[in-house]
Amino acid sequence: MVEDEAALADSLAIGRGAEGYVVDVARDGWYGHRLATDGSYGLIVLDLMLPGMSGHQVCRELRTAGVATPILVLTARDGVEDHTEALDCGADDYLTKPFSFPVLLAHLRALDRRRTAMLEPSPTVGDLVLDGRNRRCLRAGRSIPLTDRELALLDILVRHAGVTVGKDELLLAVWPEDAEDPNLVEARVSALRRKIDAPFGRHSLQTIRGEGYRLIDDRS
Ligand code: CA
Repeated sequence: MVEDEAALADSLAIGRGAEGYVVDVARDGWYGHRLATDGSYGLIVLDLMLPGMSGHQVCRELRTAGVATPILVLTARDGVEDHTEALDCGADDYLTKPFSFPVLLAHLRALDRRRTAMLEPSPTVGDLVLDGRNRRCLRAGRSIPLTDRELALLDILVRHAGVTVGKDELLLAVWPEDAEDPNLVEARVSALRRKIDAPFGRHSLQTIRGEGYRLIDDRS
């Protein structure tokens, strides 16, 4: 974590520590950049307003140097920095201060999952192959491009193949910042069906009424 606010850095170290992670804290941009350069970290939480070197600069230089570690940037609400700029410098996600701690942890877990999805061999359910690295899935030899949210959603369903995943669980994992609007899940599941099922005359992404959704091998 690269953050000059001691209280925030400490609470993250403690919160993530409880989840089994080790957190190193850098209090200025230069030191953060130095620590992150070897690419050995699983995740980087990077404040934009930092002494020494700005978060933008750190992020841009890490990406230029080929460091692919997922980066979550923290932006200020009174925002001199806008979010587009935050993501343009090569960050994977952003969070606006002030934020609640559970929301921060949920964002980090989502980044963890995306990172894991990219490191592992392509998981499959029946003839559906998830290719997270290239943000797509494959069915019947056809490549289906996915948005980031669709990818995250499908990733969870693939990992729980044949098992019903609750709407709340999907919501928190894929939209941690809007975790109160279940309509997001319904709308995105419908969109996903139009991509992965409808064109193939398939029904692999099922609604389990009152419970959630599950992805099955519906061949045969
Ligand atoms: Ca700061």
